[in-house]
Amino acid sequence: MKIVVIGGVAAGASAAARARRMNDGAEIIMLERGPYVSFANCGLPYYVGGDIPDREDLLLVSPELFKNRYHIDVRLHHNVTAIDRKKKQLRVSTPIGELIQDYDKLILAPGCDPVTPPIPGVDQKHIHTVFTISDVDAIVAALGEVRSALVVGGGFIGIETAEALLKRGIDTSMVELQAQLMPIFDPEFSRPMEAHLRAAGLRLKMGCGVQRFTGAGTVTGAELSDGSTVEAQLVILAAGLRPNVALARDCGLRLGSTGAILVNEYMQTEDPDVYAVGDAVEGFHRVSGRPIRVSLATSANRQGRIAGNNAAGAAPLRYQGTLATSVIRIADITAACTGLSERDALERGFACYSVFVPAASNASYYPGSGWLILKLVVEQVTGRLLGAQAIGEKGVEKRIDVLATAIYAGLTVLDLENLDLCYAPPYSSAKGPEIMGGMIASNVLRGDEKLVTPARLERLLQDTGAVLIDLRTQAEWDAGHIPGARHIPLDTLRADPGLLSPDKPYVFYCGVGLRAHNGCRFMTQLGYDVYNLTGGWNAYLMDV
Ligand code: FAD
Repeated sequence: MKIVVIGGVAAGASAAARARRMNDGAEIIMLERGPYVSFANCGLPYYVGGDIPDREDLLLVSPELFKNRYHIDVRLHHNVTAIDRKKKQLRVSTPIGELIQDYDKLILAPGCDPVTPPIPGVDQKHIHTVFTISDVDAIVAALGEVRSALVVGGGFIGIETAEALLKRGIDTSMVELQAQLMPIFDPEFSRPMEAHLRAAGLRLKMGCGVQRFTGAGTVTGAELSDGSTVEAQLVILAAGLRPNVALARDCGLRLGSTGAILVNEYMQTEDPDVYAVGDAVEGFHRVSGRPIRVSLATSANRQGRIAGNNAAGAAPLRYQGTLATSVIRIADITAACTGLSERDALERGFACYSVFVPAASNASYYPGSGWLILKLVVEQVTGRLLGAQAIGEKGVEKRIDVLATAIYAGLTVLDLENLDLCYAPPYSSAKGPEIMGGMIASNVLRGDEKLVTPARLERLLQDTGAVLIDLRTQAEWDAGHIPGARHIPLDTLRADPGLLSPDKPYVFYCGVGLRAHNGCRFMTQLGYDVYNLTGGWNAYLMDV
């Protein structure tokens, strides 16, 4: 059997290696149009920033290793230009001319290409993408001369690269066309991201795009949509990725609704001898079941393994969908998410509610603990966990990985409050944030408490005529409070509940939601109609 893989990075290399492990007799050929296979594209921004000092560390597996250890024939500078599915042949452009390559099983792993927006002046030589080793070679070579840079786009690659340039001491600006950074998160997560990037020195403009790149040669600038100009000797384009679907489309394979290659759960296209994997394919969201295209190394590796296994004729493996679980370092904090955001859940028609948990990464009395804020998105009635997002100084990714596992397994918030997770003061709390989130969400599910999120607060106050009560101390109130709130410290209210009239609804808030929870519980038992502002003042600050 001859298995041919097109594309030799995350998905392609995983597919070829798995195919070899499951079928030692097959001939396996990997065709890669570029000069490298199996390189660490996720590491590129960290090489630009100097966290990864040695360029060689980006080259994970060499063609020689593929040949010697796996008996995989890697052919660099081999660009596949057409597929003839009837003849089971590929047309390949190589440095020595055009070749025809036949196959029995074909695995497409051509990935994405970065989008180059059609902005006048975009083709100047100091305007780069961060996508390949040659891209970062050019950027790193220029760093010595560069004092100012502009990053276009505030997604994963843009933020990681902006952070890298700041680390190099370069005066860095960023423009983001949307009102929010990282739209995989709910909008309120953008505020702390923006604040920490600005504190790290980034000149950030939200809701702003480049209209024209000006100048030529080593110093250039950009005219922005807000009428201002910015000077930049280096420009990074991080304006999105487009799946490489031309080969598949041109040989008659179907694309899905997201524009990526359509595959079944075995990673097969509609042609059973042609598989497709990685950034170029359309998968499905494990929670919503909807088609989704993700650009994540985790999915690419997993899908590659499945396709390699199945193409090799081993007992079939099936793709189980994605939660798009992601993490990013943003200056001195971390943000991570899994499953559906609240916005996505609502758009997909889920009846859901959200809880916020401001917490410490580990026992707050233990030196060195850091803050984090966790948000859970929960299906009403069933309590199924639909998604989770977190941001903070420490322990963020740990919580999101636990919650990704919970969502994968279809757990409810009633399960979350019973999770048996490890604890000692340097690592967590006796009730870690994910367990605390489960408890809060379970209180709501059981009808023991009503919550309102900061985003819905104003609407609730307007619709119900509820009165907002701040239950914190005088010092906390003096340091800042929500406009329109009335201040009654919790202990004062405890001593005299009659300070509030039983005829009105109330929204209680405190620092993180715990004192308000106590207030809600005793006032509810006295017959009052009370809501807790979930996450309290800390969550409110994310939204203003
Ligand atoms: P690719 O890795 O893009 O590989 C596709 C290969 O196919 C390319 O080498 C291309 O040259 C080759 N090819 C295309 N067409 C042809 C053809 N016709 N003939 C021959 N060869 C062809 N993901 C994460 O999960 N976490 C991260 O932290 C993260 N950070 C990232 C940072 C950066 C800067 C970038 C660029 C990506 C990052 N990603 C991250 C995304 C991750 O790298 C991709 O999801 C993953 O590499 C996709 O794998 P792939 O094999 O599908 O595509």
